[in-house]
Amino acid sequence: MSRLVARKATRKVSSVRFYSIVHDVPRVAGSLSQSPPPPAPESQSVFEQAVYATGARNSWTKEEISQIHQKPLMELAYAASTVHRRFHKPSAVQLCTLMNIKTGGCTEDCSYCAQSSRYKTNLQTTKLSTVDSVIEAAKIAKANGSNRFCMGAAWRDMRGRTRGLKNIVEMVKGVRGLGMEACVTLGMLDKQQARELKEAGLTAYNHNIDTSREHYPNVITTRSYDERLQTLENVREAGIHVCSGGILGLGETPATDHVGLIHTLATLPEHPESFPVNKLVPIKGTPMFGQDAVKLEDMVRCIATARLVMPKTIIRIAAGRVSMPESEQMLCFMAGANAIFTGEKMLTTDCNGWEQDKDMFERWGLTPMQTEASKLVEVQAEPKFGASSFAHLKEAEKAGEKAIEA
Ligand code: SF4
Repeated sequence: MSRLVARKATRKVSSVRFYSIVHDVPRVAGSLSQSPPPPAPESQSVFEQAVYATGARNSWTKEEISQIHQKPLMELAYAASTVHRRFHKPSAVQLCTLMNIKTGGCTEDCSYCAQSSRYKTNLQTTKLSTVDSVIEAAKIAKANGSNRFCMGAAWRDMRGRTRGLKNIVEMVKGVRGLGMEACVTLGMLDKQQARELKEAGLTAYNHNIDTSREHYPNVITTRSYDERLQTLENVREAGIHVCSGGILGLGETPATDHVGLIHTLATLPEHPESFPVNKLVPIKGTPMFGQDAVKLEDMVRCIATARLVMPKTIIRIAAGRVSMPESEQMLCFMAGANAIFTGEKMLTTDCNGWEQDKDMFERWGLTPMQTEASKLVEVQAEPKFGASSFAHLKEAEKAGEKAIEA
């Protein structure tokens, strides 16, 4: 073929565009005139319905979620990003700090967990922390920009733990008094216990369902999927926000089990306020040690699907973030994630430190999310984070040094 013919052929091919189109959607009134109108509702695919959604729906079928989950990843992530911008401030990422207030000795057999007494993991067990030590830790988290303080105790449930609950109620009140959101994860909870925590001012209760209903028996045998859902119902009925998500990398099949996980939560009477996506941290001594590492594409696909299916939910990159390079984390933010855990530890595993996250936020123009709950307390200054982040802390440090010198 002569060069001329070859060039013509190339031109002809390149003039044909085969892209499937994700229409941009106005994020706020005002940019509407520049955006193509959505297709008529009757001709919308499930994917388009999700992209153009203006509210949350909980009538999803597994097949519909699967159709979204199967989309080409670039298209899926772009659509999720578009929806994210409609429902959330794009640069705002919530900073949460998680403290283990009682470590190890748990009777459950969650096959990924270092805190189960069934596995030899060399973990030091501890009793319930004192209220004062928890409030001190929350103050440090607050000073470093965290807006939510989560407290985790390795228990199966709260039965017979009257004294423990009393102390936790005080911890919750103390954390709320600092102008932070308070979250606890204490295992299964009954309705009365949920009401007590609500009265103390608890913002959210974390209870992950971990994986799909089908895969769940391969992960845990000592409590059922329905028992977990019952706790979520008790929490919701008490008026506490539900925080519930999963762990990726438990030997599941992403195409079915990630879809199943999202489907369970997206069809609850209300979507969870927050959906933590954990990446398995393999712990020597637990049955899940040695599982294949979670692939980035599976993580991004899961986050993007959750964003499209539960548009109002805060999606939290939880355990395992420490193993993700910054570029991978950014892909997750672009696909709709908008919360992280930050601080010294994440229960028993390492966590990205505040300084590291502060630098990442500055590089990428992210800002710490402010929520209604944390605005309720007027005495607290808004955490400063971002371009001039932590200036207030540096000033406070200097002031402290001066006070010591004086
Ligand atoms: S995940 Fe929670 S319930 Fe399961 S073993 Fe660990 S501490 Fe116990």
